[in-house]
Amino acid sequence: MDSRERVAGAVVGSAVGDALGAPFEFGPAGAFSARFPVSGVENEMRGGGGWDPGEATDDTQMAVHVAESLLERGGLDPQDVFARFQRWAADDPKDIGLQTEDVLTRGLPWNQAAEAHYRSTHHAAGNGSLMRATTAAVYFAPQGRHATMDAARRISALTHGDPAAGEGTAIFHDLLRAALTGADPLKELPHTLAAVHADHRERYARVTSPTWHPAEATEFNGAVWPCLGSALWALRTTGGYEEAVRAAIDLGGDTDTLAAVTGALAGAVHGQSAIPARWTDPLHVPLPGGDGRVLRLADLLELSRSLTRPAS
Ligand SMILES: [Mg+2]
Repeated sequence: MDSRERVAGAVVGSAVGDALGAPFEFGPAGAFSARFPVSGVENEMRGGGGWDPGEATDDTQMAVHVAESLLERGGLDPQDVFARFQRWAADDPKDIGLQTEDVLTRGLPWNQAAEAHYRSTHHAAGNGSLMRATTAAVYFAPQGRHATMDAARRISALTHGDPAAGEGTAIFHDLLRAALTGADPLKELPHTLAAVHADHRERYARVTSPTWHPAEATEFNGAVWPCLGSALWALRTTGGYEEAVRAAIDLGGDTDTLAAVTGALAGAVHGQSAIPARWTDPLHVPLPGGDGRVLRLADLLELSRSLTRPAS
């Protein structure tokens, strides 16, 4: 499989997971399989809970904004990313994380807002910076482990002042980097963990261990640790893209983000062709802060190609 197939698998796979999981957000475990007992008998991309069939949520919308900033600025310009996030938040997205909203609407400068939120709440390790990381992970992958992990931390810190969110996002960046080369990201884990900040390594080693199960989570899976751990569990215990996102959504809770993170990794491992057309046909990404645009599969594929094109 060539790397373009893996890159498209990651970008589209994350968006599809997001849209497929959205109707089940905050629901109980097993709700997806209860509604769709057998895979592919009817199209599972049916919408619900305020979402149209195939409609992607804030996870994918923010990932697109990050991608467009990286491409237009020719690299990471954190102030520009923050400004795009603010325009997006001001344009009434259907869904926005509580923490992300608080940081983006505080009226503080880009390099102070997230830190101020963290100082005042001490509660900032949501999965909201992990959920939007796929496009940046693709963009920085060719620069290697340390550069991609550093970029992940910096983009995460724009909205999430807790370094735990940054370390989790950095792990995701590096595992996706490995998957895009054709390596097994799960086999890369020990090397990735060695590059995690020492204060956070043990906790991430626990939730990413092959023996860990999502039922052992000590927080709601809207937190960064169980979200990442659950995505890796879904990848590890399944043999294909469909099966992986199905397992992630069936965990319940923050299902759109669980499936967006799982879908990125499973899409990179299994390739774009593993993502069924019945899911990509209705896929669309309304883009608040994006001049009324709605991205469809062809736009996401074009974005994937641009992210891997060397800057001229
Ligand atoms: Mg969402």
